[in-house]
Amino acid sequence: MKPTIYITRKIPDEALQILEEECNVKMWDKEDQPVPREVLVKETREVDGLFCLLTEAIDKEIIENASHLKVVSNMAVGYDNIDVETASQKNIMVTNTPGVLTETTADLTFALLMSTARRLIESSNYLRAGKWSTWSPMQLTGQDIHGAKLGIIGLGRIGQALAKRAKGFDMEVYYYNRSRKPKIEEELGLQYASLEELLSDSDFISILTPYTAETHHLIGEKELQLMKSSACLINTSRGGIVNEDALYSALKQKKIWAAGLDVFDEEPVSLNHPLLELSNVVTLPHIGSASIATRKKMAAVAAEDLLLGLKGETPKHLVN
Ligand code: NAP
Repeated sequence: MKPTIYITRKIPDEALQILEEECNVKMWDKEDQPVPREVLVKETREVDGLFCLLTEAIDKEIIENASHLKVVSNMAVGYDNIDVETASQKNIMVTNTPGVLTETTADLTFALLMSTARRLIESSNYLRAGKWSTWSPMQLTGQDIHGAKLGIIGLGRIGQALAKRAKGFDMEVYYYNRSRKPKIEEELGLQYASLEELLSDSDFISILTPYTAETHHLIGEKELQLMKSSACLINTSRGGIVNEDALYSALKQKKIWAAGLDVFDEEPVSLNHPLLELSNVVTLPHIGSASIATRKKMAAVAAEDLLLGLKGETPKHLVN
């Protein structure tokens, strides 16, 4: 008998086809609306496999309710939306999609760094608002990227891909990571720094750790105080790593120069969020991995791993 799976959003056709060949598929088929919680609880009760996105909290309630569940396949590299501990206790496999999105997310991170440094969104809005009356020496001036110091917090796959891009811009690259990586330091020409050193010396700070209990509010008031008044903070990891209230105060009081944010504590971020009032913040709706090719690859990787797990084999990207 074919296993039954639930897919929490309309996914690319190629991945859906792979799954439909081998499973009885039920899918929340709306592209722009997440599955309502009560539907998710109901639909997962009897399934063998779950294909989900970071928009769904796969928590204790869902996992304990789903008595047949064997595999949860998350179409993302981060899996902080899943209660992995409870899944492990129930012998449920959890998988993610590392690697295929590394370069695309590093591209976006560098693009966000550049947009923030050179005030691209603000400048475009300035022009469209009819404020461009003349060229003037200090109009819309930003920070230089070439030759600047970049501090990467979390030198994993994306952190390393970002470091390579930064080297192409003649940046001096520092990193802080929970484990030091001498081989990569040598290969890429990077310097290790303590978190405090990195925060106080960098012109640009990019956060690329996963979101865990240890990284929750890793950047708060104390850390922001250490940064240069000309510093730009770039977060393309997860919103909860930065204390948003502290960030708002630091930006408002010009203790740091600007921030580029692809991620927020609560997503979608409310239009009333104070950070959205500030002109020195570039905001994006969590599009780090959003290239057509990469999203298709992520869906295919998640589908393949879901099938492997359902067949009793070990998925390629098992996190527990
Ligand atoms: P990765 O290869 O696992 O890299 C994470 C790095 O963070 C590792 O080097 C790890 O150190 C380090 N780290 C973990 N906990 C730490 C801590 N407490 N303090 C310091 N360093 C710590 O992951 P990745 O593929 O680069 O992805 C990184 C994160 O980016 C994901 O978890 C996800 O949240 C986010 N992401 C966002 C988007 C987006 O759309 N904006 C897209 C993709 C990914 P070790 O080497 O010691 O393990």
